[in-house]
Amino acid sequence: MFTLPKLPYAYDALESYIDAETMHIHHDKHHQAYIDKLNAAVEKNPTLAEKTVEQLLVHPQNLDTAVRSIVINNGGGHSNHSFFWNCMSPNSFFDQSSVIGQAIKTRFGSIDALKEQFAAAGLARFGSGWVWLVVDHNTLEIIDTQNQDSPISIGKKPVLALDVWEHAYYLKYRNKRAEYIASWWNVVNWEWVEAQYIGAGAQK
Ligand code: MN
Repeated sequence: MFTLPKLPYAYDALESYIDAETMHIHHDKHHQAYIDKLNAAVEKNPTLAEKTVEQLLVHPQNLDTAVRSIVINNGGGHSNHSFFWNCMSPNSFFDQSSVIGQAIKTRFGSIDALKEQFAAAGLARFGSGWVWLVVDHNTLEIIDTQNQDSPISIGKKPVLALDVWEHAYYLKYRNKRAEYIASWWNVVNWEWVEAQYIGAGAQK
């Protein structure tokens, strides 16, 4: 059975950028609900639990049609949120001379240019979804996905994720998704991002 991972920091650790109430509801209720629905499918199809959720998401087209959308939506929800919590930290520091700092400079020109393109993708995403920095063919790319679709399912390795579902920001930011995105950079865990980038084997 799949289980809810603990947050890697306190619920109020990301104040004043992400409020504690949002973190509680988002982690304890929304993320838990994806896991509960995924586990309900596992009860009927025990072989699903033989793989990690990421392994299930690599080739969702190979799954039985009875469980495919459950895995994409709820397995994706579980995987995406587990990744997202790790993308944030109360100790956010961007080092331009780090491996990921240099890679961003090479690919986007500057961290500000990355932020601008990332925010544009987040604002253009109609309805619910995610914005990602991914490694695709050894190159950093910004993509967005709908609902709980995972970049893993389209062969891309996630490096950084931002949840732009309204449940991620509506209590504090209301309808102002742009303000949420702008604030969120203050809590990005660049050490985690760099580790994902290096883990993807993309650095030259
Ligand atoms: Mn969410």
